[in-house]
Amino acid sequence: MITISKENYLKSIYTLAKGNGNFVSLTELSKELNVTKSAVTEMSKKLYEQGCVKYVRYKGIKILPKGKKIALKVIRKHRLWELFLVETLNLSWDKVHLEAEKLEHFTSDFLIDTIDEYLKYPKLDPHGEPIPCKDGSYRYKINDIPMSECILGKTYKVTRVNDREEELVRYLSKIDIQLNREIKIIEKLKFDNSVIIEVNGVKHSLSSKLVDNIFLTKANG
Ligand SMILES: [Zn+2]
Repeated sequence: MITISKENYLKSIYTLAKGNGNFVSLTELSKELNVTKSAVTEMSKKLYEQGCVKYVRYKGIKILPKGKKIALKVIRKHRLWELFLVETLNLSWDKVHLEAEKLEHFTSDFLIDTIDEYLKYPKLDPHGEPIPCKDGSYRYKINDIPMSECILGKTYKVTRVNDREEELVRYLSKIDIQLNREIKIIEKLKFDNSVIIEVNGVKHSLSSKLVDNIFLTKANG
């Protein structure tokens, strides 16, 4: 039986491995899920017994096709719900993540496929994350870089933000950062990895935490 907690583990393993089946350490996983390392070890054993992951001592765990299928299903539900809430209830992009965290576990395949069709098979969620199709493939391939890798003086377009912390997303709205917004990199401060940017003629200093959670692509021209 797959429980909510198992779904969250598989989702985190898949996400931490960046979708390419890398090994994820148990320490990383416990940090990500905010649980103890013994809890992670315990759950890893169960997932291993169910054929969802492979476990190698000192290396960590690696998601197997069975686990990946479950993870992608949960991610699909999460991202489609977020978009549905934004599009139909006009909720702002900083209000939908926590709702989707709950809904993703209680939605039938039938309902999510209906939502997918209703939204006309969208490629991206409100935070710029690609939505997996019914068969687990993606209609869109991520092609962006984190803000920390951006070049000084160049202008970029926001493609994706990490939505895990509502407050972080809310702050971005406050300083007028949203998807497709053009941002100019004014200064990169090496000593604390913060970045000074310009949005619509206004300068802002972004902490390294913000910098790590914003992804961009070069703006045309
Ligand atoms: Zn989300």
